[in-house]
Amino acid sequence: MGLVDADVVVIGAGALGLSTALHCALSGRSVAVLERHAAGSQASGRAAGLFKSVQADELRTNLARRSITRASTFADWADVPLTVTRPGSFLIARTDQHRDFLRRELDQSRRWGVDVREATPAELAERLGYYGPASDYFAVSCPEDIYIEEPASLIQAYLAACQRHGTEIIENEPVIGIPVTAGRVTGVETERRSIAAPVVVDGAGGWVRQVASLAGAQVPLAPVRHQLLITEPTPEVDPAGPIVRVVDAAVYLRPARSGLMVGGFEPDPLPVDPRHEPPSFSTDDVPLDLGVLRQLVSQVAREVPLASTAPVAEHRAGLFTMSPDGRFVTGPVPDLPGLWVASGCNGSGFSSSLAIGEALAAWITTGAAPPGLTALSPARFGPLPEDILVSRGIWQYAHYYDPAAPDQGAS
Ligand SMILES: Cc1cc2nc3c(=O)[nH]c(=O)nc-3n(C[C@H](O)[C@H](O)[C@H](O)COP(=O)(O)OP(=O)(O)OC[C@H]3O[C@@H](n4cnc5c(N)ncnc54)[C@H](O)[C@@H]3O)c2cc1C
Repeated sequence: MGLVDADVVVIGAGALGLSTALHCALSGRSVAVLERHAAGSQASGRAAGLFKSVQADELRTNLARRSITRASTFADWADVPLTVTRPGSFLIARTDQHRDFLRRELDQSRRWGVDVREATPAELAERLGYYGPASDYFAVSCPEDIYIEEPASLIQAYLAACQRHGTEIIENEPVIGIPVTAGRVTGVETERRSIAAPVVVDGAGGWVRQVASLAGAQVPLAPVRHQLLITEPTPEVDPAGPIVRVVDAAVYLRPARSGLMVGGFEPDPLPVDPRHEPPSFSTDDVPLDLGVLRQLVSQVAREVPLASTAPVAEHRAGLFTMSPDGRFVTGPVPDLPGLWVASGCNGSGFSSSLAIGEALAAWITTGAAPPGLTALSPARFGPLPEDILVSRGIWQYAHYYDPAAPDQGAS
């Protein structure tokens, strides 16, 4: 294979890499994407597909809401159809602590422009077919929230749009080298080719640290396992029903394939570091543990018995890339011109890919950081010992629905 040149090379054809590639292409750049396996086959292809307008800070709120808008209007700007389900969601809290927390979230999200309000019992009774709220709950209605039924459909839409706009997608070809000349990244190398490019974006998901280290760079992220299940089809679930998030149980539910999707964030999640796994390690090797999910789901057994009792049609898992403050890690790598990172998904990279890719591409192509984006810099933590990195990532994972403010730090 000969030398191929591009303005931008993206490593990793997951949601974050593909969105960045697409938005660079839409800005007229020549783009190549290199993917180790098949596009979307790792974390992105396993996502629950949920979009959440209520977020812990204003920046994430803006990114989440921008993503909802961009997903809902995908055909208008990317010229490729994308089906989005728009049932809205309910956030439900059943402990004093979580009721207070949710009231605060309601107030701050409203201030940040989100359409949220306290849900009435009548509304819940009408909409929550599969979930029977017990007494002493506080519930918030989030009508903006959407989901994409099958995560592969967003990947296919990104791929089709990328190809339509001239992006080259090279699958089953891992990047094995990132040459640096005179302190600058100059492209990428695979076993079959070298691609010279002034901009290289590391969007390698759970492998983001290995890829960055090819250029001698470090990225502060800890991959952590996340699992969900989908029950067999059941008439108890109305396919038009809403998303439900029970914040004290850290459990989410939504209709899926005529059954119910159930996932959640256990307090003691499993860190998985691909750097310490065999080179062939992929998401298929992330261990599944139904017991962990069953334990989580037992917390809502009274409200939604079928989540615990219905036969399981699919059980899947993948890796989140957790950052110490729960925010994305995206932007230029300091002191290494040419290398950029699109990562730190913290469990929201599928949905937020639309806005993150758009913002990152604007930064790459104009040289100016979009408002607020420098707060997501890969450099913001300084050097962190591995055990602190992992323990903070675990804390953020366990507090997905009740996170600390970013500057309060987590231990
Ligand atoms: C079960 C589950 C449910 C989830 N639910 C949601 C949800 O509802 N909403 C939401 O927003 N997010 C959700 N997420 C999180 C979401 O899936 C991730 O945030 C998102 O997919 C991250 O995208 P990515 O592009 O960073 O990673 P990936 O999709 O993993 O893509 C990275 C790609 O890089 C490739 N790669 C690695 N090394 C190399 C190399 N050397 N050369 C070339 N390519 C390489 C990999 O093969 C991979 O395809 C969920 C995740 C899981 C596991």
